[in-house]
Amino acid sequence: MSRKPIDDLTGFDVGPDFERFSQRDDIFCRALWDESVKSRRSKEFFGGYFMPRARSRRSEGFSQRDYALRNASWHVTNVLRDSHRQETGRKEGFFDYFTAHEAGWPEPYAFDSPEQATRDLEKVARFAGADLFGVCAGDERWMYRELFDDRMGTGKPAEVPGDLPHVIVIGESMDLDLTRTVPSALSGSATGMGYSNDSVTLLTLAQYIRNLGYRAYASMNDTALAVPLAVQAGLGEAGRHSLLITREFGPRLRLGKVFTDLPLVNSRPQQFGVNRFCDICDRCVTACPPKAIAAGAPSNHRHNRSNLKGVSKWTTNAETCFKFWVNQNSDCSICIRVCPYNRDYRRWANRLWRWLAGTRLRRLALWLDDRLVDRRRQKASWWWDRP
Ligand code: SF4
Ligand code: SF4
Repeated sequence: MSRKPIDDLTGFDVGPDFERFSQRDDIFCRALWDESVKSRRSKEFFGGYFMPRARSRRSEGFSQRDYALRNASWHVTNVLRDSHRQETGRKEGFFDYFTAHEAGWPEPYAFDSPEQATRDLEKVARFAGADLFGVCAGDERWMYRELFDDRMGTGKPAEVPGDLPHVIVIGESMDLDLTRTVPSALSGSATGMGYSNDSVTLLTLAQYIRNLGYRAYASMNDTALAVPLAVQAGLGEAGRHSLLITREFGPRLRLGKVFTDLPLVNSRPQQFGVNRFCDICDRCVTACPPKAIAAGAPSNHRHNRSNLKGVSKWTTNAETCFKFWVNQNSDCSICIRVCPYNRDYRRWANRLWRWLAGTRLRRLALWLDDRLVDRRRQKASWWWDRP
């Protein structure tokens, strides 16, 4: 399994030694079974997403009201995650796809064309809350070769059928102002709300497709690697910090996917200069407290088993990143806050900047970002007190 024609459009560099990723090696799974990652503090970190175990403190951004919002923003995803956990051990949306569906319609609805179906789907996705929408062909390279069995701490077989020809990828934007308060527990609310919105949109979209008489599986962080699918679905490009960078929201969004056999038209991958911009930028590298982000050129170096094998790219050290999260008792998005693409693109000046960043004048764009944009951390009270 290696290079495919789509790689010419995305720029993915997949080598002959490529191996599909096992979900068991995902850092959040390893924190549950791997003694080198698992600790008392990591247990407290996960527990902290539920009051009153949040371990709030007096420091700015980590008070009870900050955790109160952070944890409330995750609440919908937590309810869905635990809906079948007791009987089956499934953690839906995180380790397993969502099963909260009705049977739908027994016969497939006849669209005039895949183009019409795609238009309808995008309309429904946006109606249900998606900020971004794209479609790509199913690509088994990015499907986890095995899932994680939370009860046993072992691998288990993949569940989503491998014959579904399309993946719908959606993006939910994260609040720009909240990302300016990173690091803080409060800023985690932007992530949590992104996922909660994601889960509502994904379930609605999958049920709509089932109601039309087709197969559909709604998936959030489970089942497959989201960033390569999002790139193939035309949502954006992968940045040095390993996050998706989009034209509309920069790196500030959460992804979700629906695997389906509804005949659709695939989107075209788009490149708007991110790769070459990251070549000359190291903001995320220098700002990352534990130095988890790769400097230099893309390579196929793996820091540890939580990295994909056989793809040349910028690879983040998930172990050091996660350790930092655990130590500060909340997730971190400093790499999002400092990224020059993290802007409000409703403003024409920022759209102009994005255009400049995609040209040979990218160094000027970086310099302008340096001079004109205040990317320092804002206090949580700044967010709370804003009108
Ligand atoms: S989330 Fe924080 S610790 Fe992790 S890579 Fe980004 S800046 Fe570094
Ligand atoms: S901070 Fe700079 S190097 Fe890092 S992802 Fe953003 S643009 Fe790329």
